[in-house]
Amino acid sequence: MTDPIRPQPGIMEIALYQGGASHVAGITDAVKLSSNENPFGASEKAREAYIRAVHNLHRYPSTDHAKLREAIGEVHGLDPARIICGTGSDEVLLLLCQAYAGPGDEVIYTQHGFLMYPIAARSVGAVPVQVQERDRTVDVDAILAAANEKTKIVFIANPNNPTGTMIGAGEVARLADGLPEQTILVLDGAYAEFVEGFDGGAALATERPNVFMTRTFSKIYGLGGLRIGWGYGAQAIIDVLNRIRNPFNLSHGQLEAGEAAVRDQDFVAKCRAENARMRVWLAEALAEHGVPSDTSMANFILARFADEAEATACDAFLQSEGLIVRRVASYGLPHCLRITIGDEAACRRVAAAIAKFKGRN
Ligand SMILES: *Cc1c(COP(=O)(O)O)cnc(C)c1O
Repeated sequence: MTDPIRPQPGIMEIALYQGGASHVAGITDAVKLSSNENPFGASEKAREAYIRAVHNLHRYPSTDHAKLREAIGEVHGLDPARIICGTGSDEVLLLLCQAYAGPGDEVIYTQHGFLMYPIAARSVGAVPVQVQERDRTVDVDAILAAANEKTKIVFIANPNNPTGTMIGAGEVARLADGLPEQTILVLDGAYAEFVEGFDGGAALATERPNVFMTRTFSKIYGLGGLRIGWGYGAQAIIDVLNRIRNPFNLSHGQLEAGEAAVRDQDFVAKCRAENARMRVWLAEALAEHGVPSDTSMANFILARFADEAEATACDAFLQSEGLIVRRVASYGLPHCLRITIGDEAACRRVAAAIAKFKGRN
């Protein structure tokens, strides 16, 4: 007998999202390098704004997020009317699927793409279609070949997580041009701020009705615990998403901290510079010990080992040294470990531990 109480199709096929581990049994001072968090925390100004928000706990927050959208618009040179804010960019990705995809529709993501994409697609009954990458980099031709009249959304993170690679503006534009007319190209710019001078796809999303950009306060802004993200695109898409968005999705604390954070671009610039410096240092240190990685544009590197067994052994060794990194087998990369760029002390500990591990083998 089948249970008469049944979830919508697709939901039971969702594999639960696994967050990065945060502790190791028996070790009290472990360094967490598994979730691409900012080693410097959040801007002091954002923290102060969050604390001030405590005085308004009894009031409902703004439903239109006008002040936060204005601040984002000012800093990025974008029309605030074309911005939507969500509880993390994850919510915006989900709203896009809810509004534009359903049973029978296809949602494209790439071979080593972010796992929230297939989760969001399945949650609305759509079919996630995984497209091959080339050398751990998004392959525009492969996506264009896979797109058809059922394709409603194409998700690309640029730079991508967990590979750290990105594709150039020409390739992104070629993709936007070549997709079927009913397909929205979503450019997930979670790591855009780590790339000096990069707009995350904002210019393309300004010009084209079929390109949408998402951004987050979880990475360079160091506010992953607060859950703030935003999206930017055609007015028509924003108007659709706002109809299904929970009107009070962001609390006072999120709105106030987000506004202060985006206005503190000195903090962002400092984090970007320090990340770039330590990322090069760590990649070179690991390469010297026979652990290569692709040139990363984000706040982590994807360290490649000989095979899955070596990656597993190295992960266990790092844990025994109090260093928590990310296994990425679920991203089709069983022989790799994704290592967040921590502060200088953390990077030096990782390099020394991997040198020790390689020396023992
Ligand atoms: C971390 C990350 C996000 C951000 O998610 P939030 O919900 O904003 O915390 C989005 N996309 C990718 C690819 C990420 O790695």
